[in-house]
Amino acid sequence: MIEASCHCGALRLQVPKPPEDVEIKECNCSICRRTGAILAYYSPDHVRVSGPTDVYMWGDRSIEFHRCKVCGNFSHWIAVDKSYDRMGVNVRLMPAELLTNLRIPKFDGANTWTIIGERRGL
Ligand SMILES: [Zn+2]
Repeated sequence: MIEASCHCGALRLQVPKPPEDVEIKECNCSICRRTGAILAYYSPDHVRVSGPTDVYMWGDRSIEFHRCKVCGNFSHWIAVDKSYDRMGVNVRLMPAELLTNLRIPKFDGANTWTIIGERRGL
């Protein structure tokens, strides 16, 4: 289990695997570009979220973007349809030592929906 937490600690997420063992990406779509999130993908069945969140949705309102109610850090997205077997967890909330040498693919979510590069570590 890996524990992620927001800056103030009110919001915690437990994920089953470190980010190096799952699909991750840094994306330039309209929301990721602004939050600065790097996302790791898990099944919602394997992620535990505890703590207060506020939710942002737009467009077709099919995805909930959660942030800590206290400090405002973006923590994860999850589909409104809870049978959707994928959610994105913000890697930036995970322990720093897991991130220093992490391979981070850059995903062009704004335009081509393809991987356009990679960077190393935070
Ligand atoms: Zn917080």
